[in-house]
Amino acid sequence: MAFHPDAVVVGAGLAGLVATHELAKAGKRVLVLEQENRNNLGGQAFWSLGGLFFVDSPEQRRVRVKDSLELARQDWFGSAAFDRLDDEDVWGRQWAEAYLQWAAGGKRGYLRDLGHRVLPMVGWAERGDGSATGHGNSVPRFHITWGTGPGVVDAFANPVLEAEKAGLVRFAFRHQVDELLVEDGAVVGVRGSELAPDDADRGVKSSREVVGGFEHRAAAVVVTSGGIGHNHDLMRANWPTDRVGPAPEHLISGVPAHVDGRMLGITEAAGGRIVNRDRMWAYTEGIHNWDPIWPDHAIRILPGPSSMWFDANGRRLTGMSGVPGADSIGAMTQILATGHDYSWFVLTQSIIEKEFALSGSEQNPDLTGRDVKFLLQSRLAKGAPGPVAAFMEHGEDFVVADTLPELVAGMNGLARGPQLDLDDLERQISARDRELGNDFSKDVQVMAIHNARRSMVDKLIRVAKPHRILDPAHGPLVAVRLNILSRKTLGGLQTDLDSRVLGEDGSPIPGLYAAGEVAGFGGGGVHGYNALEGTFLGGCIFSGRAAGLAIGRA
Ligand SMILES: Cc1cc2nc3c(=O)[nH]c(=O)nc-3n(C[C@H](O)[C@H](O)[C@H](O)COP(=O)(O)OP(=O)(O)OC[C@H]3O[C@@H](n4cnc5c(N)ncnc54)[C@H](O)[C@@H]3O)c2cc1C
Repeated sequence: MAFHPDAVVVGAGLAGLVATHELAKAGKRVLVLEQENRNNLGGQAFWSLGGLFFVDSPEQRRVRVKDSLELARQDWFGSAAFDRLDDEDVWGRQWAEAYLQWAAGGKRGYLRDLGHRVLPMVGWAERGDGSATGHGNSVPRFHITWGTGPGVVDAFANPVLEAEKAGLVRFAFRHQVDELLVEDGAVVGVRGSELAPDDADRGVKSSREVVGGFEHRAAAVVVTSGGIGHNHDLMRANWPTDRVGPAPEHLISGVPAHVDGRMLGITEAAGGRIVNRDRMWAYTEGIHNWDPIWPDHAIRILPGPSSMWFDANGRRLTGMSGVPGADSIGAMTQILATGHDYSWFVLTQSIIEKEFALSGSEQNPDLTGRDVKFLLQSRLAKGAPGPVAAFMEHGEDFVVADTLPELVAGMNGLARGPQLDLDDLERQISARDRELGNDFSKDVQVMAIHNARRSMVDKLIRVAKPHRILDPAHGPLVAVRLNILSRKTLGGLQTDLDSRVLGEDGSPIPGLYAAGEVAGFGGGGVHGYNALEGTFLGGCIFSGRAAGLAIGRA
């Protein structure tokens, strides 16, 4: 039967699902075009840890964290450092203000009404660069979804699948959009290629063999196609060399192959304006997945603050950027300044057991499966959590040894650059260990560890009791070669607060909307230069919702 959509949504990731949900609620007929198969519903969000940024939540209050909109605003704008305010940052800044108010207001209730729940332990991500007015979260705000990424996806996929049954929503999988149809300056539809059927599992790279074509028209087209994280050439072409250092030669992929960035160029060809191309959120703590799903599959370590961090030359990273989990871009800048694209953690068994978490739903089966018994068993048992232990055993970036000479020999076997000097490393580790005689210290990292342990959640589950790295009672020693992994795209299509895509002259292109990562999570760059974490899924939800509401009103 013919289906005449009111709106076409390009991409069935989180932003697409949220927009579709809002449109169906408003009684609109929606056609969702997705280049992958149905197994991939929810896109990247499925693989995510489901960490969400809330401000002054009941969960924060329960663990005695005092937060406020004013403090969150100080942190967000200190991190974003918007400096293109008369041009590229015009809308990103307005999105930031609107998003902050939502994160401190209606966001929690909106998600709870859809069955979304978070864990009671609030995490402290991006602890900052060491200044009140600069980058970072002053307090823990990272709320992990009960059910991780799939839990976030379900909140929107469930009502959308109901709307599909009711005939309001239709999905066309293996449909790849190649062109936006423009007539008299307005976007009126899409044209594209039908791809050969492929029953690949979720996340696995699929074929691009074309078996047909399609064209669909609608009053509104919503582009929700994600970022550029698996397109390393595009990342390198836009890499902020002047600000951060040379683009990494060895880059591993924190996102599936479908995060290809193609729709950015296609939307640009239809008149959409791309801003802040040089802003991206890659991480420095990437490890090669020993059991990969997509090509070059990288896993990010979410580290606590205690591992010692050395650059490729064996020099300890300095300042707060040298404290793991504090200042991603600051650490990246120090690492790339060596001319090499990797660095090292040196730590102990005691630290790895308490401080290593791995980002990704599949790396946290207890939380993803919402299995309380398994959760207690895996997190309270002695030894590192199962997935971390598996990396220690099989991961190509790990060295485990009883003595420092053995450890350094193993590191030198893995080094892609200079050989490390044992005496130099020992001197730096011993100096840091000597700083542990008191509850205070002049070493910034040791200070940060003491500070973290004054936060209830950190002390309970996240930060190891301070100890000497070279104390055999806390061994064996562990070293991890850290690679740079791609993840989020902070710039993108410039949009107004209704998620309407703007043209080069700053006015909206009739019929064209964008949301989620392709729109820099709103406005073409809601994060500015730095993110506070947990703000990406929320940005997809907030901007997807804005698009759906605006089209629903029209
Ligand atoms: C491992 C991992 C952990 C993460 N953890 C967190 C976290 O804890 N907290 C957080 O806030 N964020 C996290 N993120 C980031 C977050 O998941 C993503 O930024 C977000 O899900 C992006 O959603 P999206 O809908 O914009 O894009 P996507 O999920 O990339 O979806 C876009 C969809 O569009 C389709 N598409 C693209 N081009 C076309 C085309 N031409 N035609 C048809 N279809 C097309 C793609 O196939 C894809 O399905 C994580 C990401 C990963 C990978």
